[in-house]
Amino acid sequence: MITPNKNYANLKDSYLFARIAQKVAAYQDAHPGVHLLRMGIGDVSLPLCPAVIDALHEAVNDQATKERFEGYQPECGTPFLRHAIAAHYRARGVDVADDEVFVSSGASDELGDILDLFDRSSSALVIEPAYPAYVDANVIAGRTIVHLPSGRENGFLPEPTEDALADLLYICSPNNPTGAVFGRDQLQRWVDFANEHGSLILFDAAYEAFIEDDEVPHSIMELPGARTCAIEICSLSKTAGFTGTRLGYTVVPKELEREGMSFNSMWVRNRTTKTNGVSYIIQRGAAAVFTPEGQRQIQENLRYYKDNARILMEALDAAGIWYCGGKNAPYLWLKCPDGVDSWEFFDYLLQQKQIVGTPGSGFGSCGEGYFRFSTFGSREDTKEAASRLAQLRG
Ligand code: PLP
Repeated sequence: MITPNKNYANLKDSYLFARIAQKVAAYQDAHPGVHLLRMGIGDVSLPLCPAVIDALHEAVNDQATKERFEGYQPECGTPFLRHAIAAHYRARGVDVADDEVFVSSGASDELGDILDLFDRSSSALVIEPAYPAYVDANVIAGRTIVHLPSGRENGFLPEPTEDALADLLYICSPNNPTGAVFGRDQLQRWVDFANEHGSLILFDAAYEAFIEDDEVPHSIMELPGARTCAIEICSLSKTAGFTGTRLGYTVVPKELEREGMSFNSMWVRNRTTKTNGVSYIIQRGAAAVFTPEGQRQIQENLRYYKDNARILMEALDAAGIWYCGGKNAPYLWLKCPDGVDSWEFFDYLLQQKQIVGTPGSGFGSCGEGYFRFSTFGSREDTKEAASRLAQLRG
């Protein structure tokens, strides 16, 4: 008889988004026709840029001709896209070779799959509050999880200490949910810590495109020593509106080795075994993101979200509410006023201000008392929400 993976029984039920949906539906039933300002969404609202759309159309046309038809693509990514991504890194002064770039169907898939590279006895450090997939993927694999709480006292950017000792270290910067961003020196201390202890950093750079300050690293590979201790996981989801189109990429440096085994070679072996590559059409669309035209156009969309962030930040400043994020990140993480807890504040905003956000307690216990706003909504709703929030008192 087949034995199920019993670790699934150790997963905590994810009530967060289901409970939000339930409360919102109940409110709408009781108040039909009331427009809710949805500041909770983690999905983009603007369409793909024209350069991507043109490339997708052309790729569809390729598939209609005998001469240009494409079948299976190389498992680790088609050379034109691996090259375009590596060239993008090199243009920023980061030395990444084409065959260190692996094309994926998105960061979520990769965050789960990459765990195949590590022994199940390895422990995983999760800085809390955190994107829930880090914990869940490791619970499924039966790993020991080390939870490192962060808080307002360290700006939600903890330093590596003895409490952070683990084999795998998850670092997400710019962070979801807190919007906090590691500066160069802070991140360097994590790189040095990982090298000193033989740990491996899984660096989630899904929001790097929102970084505006020159001194904040976009990629962990910018830092000396990262190539011997880090894997970087990236996504075009928020960078270029690919949440529904699906494309990501992962950088596995060739110097990254433990016990004589190369993680780059292992990942090639893993991909050639477990995938048959990402769709040719989508890869063509993704390559357009890395052209000068594509880069200019995605910046216009990113500008829109960054301006939403500025509008919300001004409102929270006016209300005297403490927050982090918003700058260099598409999320704002605020302290609920009057010491109320995250769900009380959710109910208050929904009932009194018709604003929907995300309770911080859904991202781990040290998120209690905090609240997340996303900047991916429409300009009109963001402005209206801002004017209602500005009346609060922090
Ligand atoms: N990592 C973080 C921190 C995220 O917030 C998300 C999505 O919201 C992802 C990864 C997943 O991105 P993708 O759409 O590429 O799967």
